[in-house]
Amino acid sequence: MDTNKDKNMNATDTTPATIVPNGTFTLTNPVSGGYRTFRVRTWNKECRFCNGKGETAGRTCNKCDGTGKDRARVIELLAGPSNESDYQGFGFIDDRGVRVWARLKGTQFDALARCFWSAMTGRMQGSIEIQEARSCLRCNRKLTTPESIARGIGPECASKGW
Ligand SMILES: [Zn+2]
Ligand SMILES: [Zn+2]
Repeated sequence: MDTNKDKNMNATDTTPATIVPNGTFTLTNPVSGGYRTFRVRTWNKECRFCNGKGETAGRTCNKCDGTGKDRARVIELLAGPSNESDYQGFGFIDDRGVRVWARLKGTQFDALARCFWSAMTGRMQGSIEIQEARSCLRCNRKLTTPESIARGIGPECASKGW
């Protein structure tokens, strides 16, 4: 299948059918208890081929189908205290896998990319637990730690007896 063609045809869809959908996922190693939170999203950056105009020299830009937006999907790692904003992008993701950005090759992101892809495509069944982020039932804040996702309530609300 010509995936590039498909991508272009679906350029206006916000949620094209994909192996790994956009979302925030926490992966836990049940043996060590260690976990990492990843976010997959559509970039929506300005298309660099038409500078966001949607056309070049009077013709519809064929890189973005005239949307002016770069619809590539990126994978990011939660790397700070805020699970809303502290994400570090490290690669592109599509139905063929994760491609770590060149400047990050040879770093921890190679292994993280491999682990994420294997887990999300079902090749690590039992050895990695996957949880999708959810919202706190009381305050609606985003929950990304394994404990909070399982409980459905964040630590602050839980400490208040919820
Ligand atoms: Zn363009
Ligand atoms: Zn809460």
